[in-house]
Amino acid sequence: MDRSSRAIGAVVGSAVGDALGAPFEFGPPGAYTARFPDGRGQMCGGGGWDPGEATDDTQMAVLVGESLVERSGLDLPDIFERFQRWEAGAPKDIGLQTRDVLTNGQPWDRAAALHFQINLRAAGNGSLMRAATSAVHFAGDGRGATMDAARRISALTHGDPATGEGTAVFHDLVRVALDGGDPQAAVPDALAAVDPGHRARWATVLAPDWHPSDATEVNGAVWPCLGSALWAVRTTGSFEDALRAAIDLGGDTDTVAAVTGGLAGAVYGYEAIPERWTAALHLPLPGYGDRVLRLPEFLRLAERLAQGA
Ligand SMILES: [Mg+2]
Repeated sequence: MDRSSRAIGAVVGSAVGDALGAPFEFGPPGAYTARFPDGRGQMCGGGGWDPGEATDDTQMAVLVGESLVERSGLDLPDIFERFQRWEAGAPKDIGLQTRDVLTNGQPWDRAAALHFQINLRAAGNGSLMRAATSAVHFAGDGRGATMDAARRISALTHGDPATGEGTAVFHDLVRVALDGGDPQAAVPDALAAVDPGHRARWATVLAPDWHPSDATEVNGAVWPCLGSALWAVRTTGSFEDALRAAIDLGGDTDTVAAVTGGLAGAVYGYEAIPERWTAALHLPLPGYGDRVLRLPEFLRLAERLAQGA
């Protein structure tokens, strides 16, 4: 399998995971397998989502990705402006913290920091969930550069450095997977590049024997979200099974599945994503007229992002 298939797999896989997991958000563990006992999951819709409709995770990932290709690199004020335009378009779902930061009237380089100063607890998974596009774009620049870009994009909405470190680790695991490597084997090197003050907590959830039931927070928090995604990829043997494992955890299923799908797509490549899922995939983009992205638009974006990789 070539690198381009893996890069497209990461971008499309994340969007597919988001759409597949969305109907199960905040549901109990095992709901996906209960719904699809033969193991052949379908884009089923529910909870306000149409079958195949991706959510805010993918909307924000697309906004980041389009900024990266249209601005020929990292333009943080431009990404922030795109987020604000999207927020003003009244998306069906948006993280509470993300909305606060985008509407608190502060400039792009102050808004999230101010929110963190006031609220302190800010380590949700809301910047990790949108990282597949930037992970593909920056992969070719090496570990230091891709982790740094991840931290800076994360900090646009999430002032807690823990989220930046987790997003940086995700970027590096995708980078290794795009090269054909094993993301679990890449964990020690990624951890070595994590801020020392955050390293131990990340090492815990990324350890090869960690299980999602060991989590000390709900999976809407950044640590168990990435830990669960890596667990889902590590303990299964296909793209489809990784997503089943992720969604069966319950809780923040769209985001855990989006992160899992990004990683699994990089590991298994685009061809491993079932066609019955990609055919149904679609993404309305509030704030941008009547735009609805479907598979051809995702493929085009992924190919342009991969050129930077
Ligand atoms: Mg979502």
